[in-house]
Amino acid sequence: MKTIGLIGGMSWESTSLYYQIINEYIQHKKGGLYSAKCILYSVNFEEISSMQKTGQWQKCGEILGNIGKNLETAGADFIIICTNTMHKVVPDMQKYINIPIIHIAEATYNRIKEAGIKNIGLLGTKYTMKEDFYKNILIDKGLNVIIPEDDEVEFINNVIFNELCKGDIKAESKRKFLEIVDRLKLRGAEGIILGCTEIVMLISQKDIDIKVFDTTQIHAETAAELSLK
Ligand code: GLU
Repeated sequence: MKTIGLIGGMSWESTSLYYQIINEYIQHKKGGLYSAKCILYSVNFEEISSMQKTGQWQKCGEILGNIGKNLETAGADFIIICTNTMHKVVPDMQKYINIPIIHIAEATYNRIKEAGIKNIGLLGTKYTMKEDFYKNILIDKGLNVIIPEDDEVEFINNVIFNELCKGDIKAESKRKFLEIVDRLKLRGAEGIILGCTEIVMLISQKDIDIKVFDTTQIHAETAAELSLK
């Protein structure tokens, strides 16, 4: 079994989901007392999120790149970054690391392709929804990515950082997220990417009547599957 290197803590709420999903997957596939071989480096998210706000992305890339290098030295065979947003700095991180980084958008695209969907709604932080680093991976593979309106982008971003990353689940926020999903559907979305690893704490497939792509589940399962290859 290969050793998974996890870069987590962004936030720890969703990293704990990764740990659970990865171990459940291995246990389910292998039985017995099988569990995942993994090394988790969990950051202080206050430090990282302040650097996001002040646009210090290069510095973030350096920090996460060094963490990746440490995971590699500690014996990880490959790395997953347990957040969509911080994939923005993958190109910078790669300078520090010789083992593969399993990209969350690539893993998610594979599932969308399997489902035969072309028009996809994207929910995530404002960085993930508005900037190109994430969307372009999907667009370059032929998907039509639909993002919420500007005021909705702001609202979603605030809920992620001020509520979900602190484990605060509010019925009112859930209601508004589902309204946003409805509007994406009206604009042609055939499926919805939960493109932030905390969103599944608020809404999930059981709330929505089109196909939901939960990046936390998909990314964690992809890592677990790879560790067994
Ligand atoms: N976990 C979130 C994501 O998947 C947001 C936190 C962050 O900015 O890394 O994008």
